[in-house]
Amino acid sequence: GEDESEKDVESVCPYCGVGCLLTYHVKDDKIQWTDGRDGPSNHNRLCVKGRYGYDYSRSPERLTKPLIRREDAPKEADPQIDPANPYTHFREATWEEALDRAGYDLRNIRDKYGSQALAGFGSAKGSNEEAYLFQKLVRTGFGTNNVDHCTRLCHASSVKAMLEMIGTGGITNQVEDVARAEVIVVIGANPPVNHPVASSFMKNAAQNGKKLILIDPRRTDMAPHADYMLQFQPDTDVALLNSMMAAILEEGLVDEEFIRSHTSGFEALQEHLAAYSPDHMEPITGIPAETIREVSRLYATSEGSMIFWGMGVSQHSHGTDNARALIDLALMTGQIGRPGTGLHPLRGQNNVQGASDAGLIPMVYPDYQPVNDTATQEKFEQFWGSKLDDQLGLTAVEIFNEAHEGNIKGMYIMGENPAMSDPNLRHSRESLVHLENLTVQDLFLTETAFYADVVLPASAFQEKLGTYTNTDRRVQMGRPALSLPGDARQDLDLIQEIARRLGLDWNYSGPREVWEEMRQCMPSIAGMSWERLDREDSITYPCPTEDHPGTPILFLDKTFWTQDGKAHFQTADFTRAKELPDDEYPFVLITGRQLEHWHTGSMTRRTQVLNAIEPMATLSMHPEDLRQMGLQPGDKVRTYSRRGSVDLATRADDGLHRGQVFLPFAYHEAAANLLTTDVLDPDAKIPEFKYCAVQIQPS
Ligand code: SF4
Repeated sequence: GEDESEKDVESVCPYCGVGCLLTYHVKDDKIQWTDGRDGPSNHNRLCVKGRYGYDYSRSPERLTKPLIRREDAPKEADPQIDPANPYTHFREATWEEALDRAGYDLRNIRDKYGSQALAGFGSAKGSNEEAYLFQKLVRTGFGTNNVDHCTRLCHASSVKAMLEMIGTGGITNQVEDVARAEVIVVIGANPPVNHPVASSFMKNAAQNGKKLILIDPRRTDMAPHADYMLQFQPDTDVALLNSMMAAILEEGLVDEEFIRSHTSGFEALQEHLAAYSPDHMEPITGIPAETIREVSRLYATSEGSMIFWGMGVSQHSHGTDNARALIDLALMTGQIGRPGTGLHPLRGQNNVQGASDAGLIPMVYPDYQPVNDTATQEKFEQFWGSKLDDQLGLTAVEIFNEAHEGNIKGMYIMGENPAMSDPNLRHSRESLVHLENLTVQDLFLTETAFYADVVLPASAFQEKLGTYTNTDRRVQMGRPALSLPGDARQDLDLIQEIARRLGLDWNYSGPREVWEEMRQCMPSIAGMSWERLDREDSITYPCPTEDHPGTPILFLDKTFWTQDGKAHFQTADFTRAKELPDDEYPFVLITGRQLEHWHTGSMTRRTQVLNAIEPMATLSMHPEDLRQMGLQPGDKVRTYSRRGSVDLATRADDGLHRGQVFLPFAYHEAAANLLTTDVLDPDAKIPEFKYCAVQIQPS
């Protein structure tokens, strides 16, 4: 007979923005294995993380009791943690004691110093409902818009450019459109590593005769499938994209009718591009003018050309300009608003799209409604029954700068690990030390939790019910497969416990009730009832009414979501990174991810299979650079920048340019962000993770 302890649970993968649907096969409260389901984004496929990356939630390191910092355990920027016993700085507490300490300390800070002394970081790993409730708590309970999450470190620049130019930060066409495109451009992205299942559809499209154009300083595993690999000089994105547009102008390949009817600002762009001819840019970008002309011709004249981009575009001090140039390219050729065209900034986290939509960002309420617009503010004041802050909130890195200055004194961090993920970590860690109260809600004693006053053990993805929005704007249902370990509690309940201690009378029965409230203030999801999501498993917003099928392609009617309905061209100047290599620091450091590890490693490094495949930090270097330094792959080196140093082993990668090195940021024992710079893009406040100067020495 059927064993009652066995069940199959239909859910979503907790890792990347592709949003693969999967089934957890569960026995005795343990996941035995997973299968890909026939979801719209994966058609039964899963990558190694989706397939094997679930046992972190049953790791022996899981937090199962609330913790409070010991009186005699001072906070230090460089804490000496005994890996065998990391808990020495903390003592176990009851839930009541821990929640009182967190909630009342935060409230006291608010009452003593004012609302602007508080801030919150939510999570792109949590559900839409958690993101919504978290930002509502910060806005109505803390009384500030100082709420952000890792989107600031990820696509803030892309979203900034898209909002100003086409009126939305979401993708215009879904990944599945690669089957309908003729030309696929992938720039500053490494999909086989970061969006593996999406990359498999791109590779299939290339096998079926679509032209694949890769543009990246690093030759990635996608290259064997590509028709063109433009391995340009790092940091010269704007020069390259402007030269492509100049080539299109030269050859008269712009879409004049589209430009005339649906855009503004083209003349200024046209003038601006005169300085960027392909011949002129060749020595800067390293890409032959003829190649530029050839790929530009292909892109402009095809029936359908799509652009995908990633952090290689967005994480620069000129990230917003990089994105602006990409959008200009699509607009001037009319490659938008049809199947198989458009703009797709590939979202990293499984719910970074949804968390942003839910208002987990400092400048907008849910559905990108501006906080500094009086009518909108009044609408939300009425809806939430609470006075709201009329100032724009601070962004992630700015919040840390203010904490460093002593102006922010209390923080609530749920499911993020800024003590690993922020740039210039020494500075960020000092900021955490300065806080009077840091409350961290997470699964593990993360590097950030080391600095906490109170640690709240929370729920893993496989233990909760909620919705998640993937890179394609698909809202999908995640369902609980496992019970909570020990005394750990649901994140949604913990947010409410804190909220009640800040004086809010909250009593949501669960995610469904939160979702129904979200539908009332977010027109994009108004048509997605909980029943419908549960039944259909995946619906694409905008979905305004219950009988609406969802909107996979934006702008089919060529009306953009700007004030005047037109798309707006912008010009972008070629500028350089803020820290260039020199004699003292001659190498360029690029940070990023590996296939097997996820972001700061808090999940995947506690996953047996994934950590066994990639157990240690390595610095990838060009083989010639290794040889010149008398090094073999595997030799130990010290890598240092003006801000810090890490010790690790080398690895050879001839896909890099000489003088360029790559370091994943998942390893706490060699934290890449000790090296990175906290220079920000002035428009989007995104840090320059993709470029800083380092030195390397044998150790
Ligand atoms: Fe999960 Fe992304 Fe892999 Fe799909 S491609 S299984 S969503 S990590």
